[in-house]
Amino acid sequence: MIIEGNQKELDAMEQFHKGNRKEGLRLQEEFASAFRREYKEKDHCPCQKACRYHGNCKECVAIHRAHQEHVPNCMRGLLNRRIRLLSELTEHTIADEIEAPHEVLHREFQEK
Ligand code: SF4
Repeated sequence: MIIEGNQKELDAMEQFHKGNRKEGLRLQEEFASAFRREYKEKDHCPCQKACRYHGNCKECVAIHRAHQEHVPNCMRGLLNRRIRLLSELTEHTIADEIEAPHEVLHREFQEK
């Protein structure tokens, strides 16, 4: 089961946008139910950082809400896709002005 861009959830959002809340909620629960089953034991968190809160969304989100600096790692793709659209307005020249900070990754994702 793919989480990001999941078709069931995309369909649910389409229904919400059309004003079909009941159908949107039904599809959303189908997604959530499938997610619950599939990830009952498996790791669902795509974050590669060395972090003791890996997969613990409740505490991870609370930490990010508390420090207010940036969003949880799993939200980067979604936001970067939107930011890329805005960045086109200046032909991505913002890239010349910024540098990504060094990140300490979990052992299995570190370069040897
Ligand atoms: S909220 Fe945090 S713990 Fe949950 S999936 Fe995203 S990065 Fe991982």
